[in-house]
Amino acid sequence: MKIYLETLGCRLNYSEMESLGRQLVAAGHALVDAAEQADVCVLNTCAVTGEAGRKSRQTARRLARSNPNARLAITGCYATLAPEAVAALPNVELVVENRRKEELAELLQPWSLELDGEQWRRLAPDAAPHLPGRTRAFVKVQDGCNNQCTFCIVTVARGPERSRPVQEIVAEVQRLTAEGFQEAVLTGVHLGGYGSDQASGLPALGKADSRPDLHTLTAAILAETGLPRLRLSSLEPWDIAPRFFDLWAQSQGRLCPHLHLPLQSGCDRTLKRMARRTRTASFRALVEAARAAIPDLTLSTDMIAGFPGESAADFDESLRFVQEMAFAHIHVFPYSAREGTAAASFGGQIPVEERRRRVGALEAVARSSAEAVRRGLLGQTRPVLWETLERPANGAGPLWSGLTDNYLRVHAIAPPGLDLENRITPARLAALDGDVLWAEVCVDAVGFGLRGGA
Ligand code: SF4
Repeated sequence: MKIYLETLGCRLNYSEMESLGRQLVAAGHALVDAAEQADVCVLNTCAVTGEAGRKSRQTARRLARSNPNARLAITGCYATLAPEAVAALPNVELVVENRRKEELAELLQPWSLELDGEQWRRLAPDAAPHLPGRTRAFVKVQDGCNNQCTFCIVTVARGPERSRPVQEIVAEVQRLTAEGFQEAVLTGVHLGGYGSDQASGLPALGKADSRPDLHTLTAAILAETGLPRLRLSSLEPWDIAPRFFDLWAQSQGRLCPHLHLPLQSGCDRTLKRMARRTRTASFRALVEAARAAIPDLTLSTDMIAGFPGESAADFDESLRFVQEMAFAHIHVFPYSAREGTAAASFGGQIPVEERRRRVGALEAVARSSAEAVRRGLLGQTRPVLWETLERPANGAGPLWSGLTDNYLRVHAIAPPGLDLENRITPARLAALDGDVLWAEVCVDAVGFGLRGGA
């Protein structure tokens, strides 16, 4: 079968679709670039906010419109929370809730048997199967969350924590490295909770608990694979023990100096009502320890604007704290009441207009903070993993786009003939133009990829 995959939402969703893509290709199917070319479209939905649910429905309708002959299979958090609404959407023939997501390849198999077997075998090679994102792979290491943040619907949609065994993940990273991936990003709903469900084995006399945790897993990947770059996705601030930062010193530059620490609010009263297990003082101490231990670390975060009961003074306090933390990137979300969460029934719901105003204020801080961080790094030379190439219409040289180790998107115009795709090269951060960070590829250090003697 020719299958089109589309994903909304978090990195975990992307990681799941990458893994599904690999399973489907291994089973002889072809992945195609557009719904119009597909026999089957698979959509991985999101429900983190009301807006995400709306976008999930809208995307499903768009897929059905662009190819009325394709069958539609829908999975993900929105499909789990609203299966009946999803099943009623046009062309939807299969709704797969999160707990059965890993069986998706199998669940699709009967559809391929309905097609002429020879036909799909013939189609597969012509359709140039490819896997999305050859440079960076998202590796799902756990699912679910045992915390109960009062705004969060994800715990309802994803269930309790389940972790994959260390050796299974190490084997996956070894395979990805052999396939040519330069970077893997460890993802999970609650990444810092990795291992919480694994058998600890009773600590023997005088011995430490043998339960694996994220430290164990990260150290094993670094020791047992040749992966050039390893990155951690979102980590809840309360999950990070002081010894965790030792990993960066031991990694010889392979563990990326970037942390995404969701703060959600910079006001202790709001954090308490959110049932977050961090406060501004502990967050500040964590950031100071991380910056002291990891050279050139950049930080990013998530913020919710207009949580129920957030007074104007609470919001101002939050804004000041965010400014102080100097994040390189901030994802700002307006608070969205989700049925089934504690916060949906809280008093003091903030009018939508005021939530929007607070989003605007946070985004203004996000922009100035991002600019200050990038300006402060100008002149540095950093390793960049180059991902894509565009050819601008104005005839200027090929435009490359890549990510620094500390998670800054950079652009560069390299000499014609210099093939940078899926390479890590040193690049000097040269200029900031609006929000575009320009880099200069250190050509002398690039001993490969020149074509045609350029
Ligand atoms: S830590 Fe909180 S916000 Fe994150 S998934 Fe768990 S309950 Fe949701």
